[in-house]
Amino acid sequence: MIYPVSFSGVTTNKPVKNNKSVNKTPVTDKQYIQREIKKQTPNKNQKLKGLLWAGLALAAGTAVAILSRGKIKARRADVLKDIPQELQVRFEKLKNLSGKDFIDNAYNEMVDYMGLKGIAPKEILINGNDGLMSITGGYNPMLNKITYSSGFVTKLTKDQQLTMLSHELKHCEQFTNMLRTEGLTVEKYVESTVDNYINNAIRTPYQSVHFSIAYSRAREAGTVKEFLAKMKNAWIQELAKEVRQNFAEVLKLSKFKADSPEARKAFEHLRANSEYEGLNIFGTGSDTYRNNPLEVEAYAFGDKIGTMFKKFLSV
Ligand SMILES: [Zn+2]
Repeated sequence: MIYPVSFSGVTTNKPVKNNKSVNKTPVTDKQYIQREIKKQTPNKNQKLKGLLWAGLALAAGTAVAILSRGKIKARRADVLKDIPQELQVRFEKLKNLSGKDFIDNAYNEMVDYMGLKGIAPKEILINGNDGLMSITGGYNPMLNKITYSSGFVTKLTKDQQLTMLSHELKHCEQFTNMLRTEGLTVEKYVESTVDNYINNAIRTPYQSVHFSIAYSRAREAGTVKEFLAKMKNAWIQELAKEVRQNFAEVLKLSKFKADSPEARKAFEHLRANSEYEGLNIFGTGSDTYRNNPLEVEAYAFGDKIGTMFKKFLSV
């Protein structure tokens, strides 16, 4: 669910500033001619010579420009051929946007592209500090909310932002598909998260102090089984209510038939969700975390979209 971006990867990716005033070398034909003319003495012959040279420079410059324009065009075509037309149209709309404007528009374009209109959250939330080593993002499958830490807006390049948006939207698709699957009830959906939560709470007691205290008391009293059953049941009831509210629109949609590929995948994902391992305090996931089928799919999709966008911007 959480998408960590390594901090070192972020800082090395700063866009290079194009500081034109520093570059005194003439960059256009006109500047080149002006410089050549300036060099000439008032001598008429030399002035003519200078003009001739300037003319030659202009002709050569034009020839080079035409050649490289052809080259650029070929390179552009070569890069674009791997990007689906539909995405190119969307990327074109995003190309010149920046900051929050880019993020909001990129989000809406991806929601639309993935067929998640009316399913995905209407907007993303920027909330909380970055992890110690990373910028994080997460999809909450109980609240249907996508949240990123503050550095998401300020420290990432546009292709990194699009990668993370696509990644969390893939999770949104995975979880909402579970809720759209015949035979996969809200209670079963919630149970997989509760199972995962309880397992993680037992494994990493420092992350859920209240639970751990109650758990060790039950252990001392020899009532662990009863305690866990009671906790689990209470959580399922509570969260099922939340899910029915937060996914009201999704639950109204027609369901995937139990024997369809979507449904089979949804049941696999449900199991994967119960086996999720949490992130460490640095905000980076373990191998087990990244190998979870939900993550494998989300990373692959996010990276694919981000890479295509980066290529698109490069030509
Ligand atoms: Zn994820």
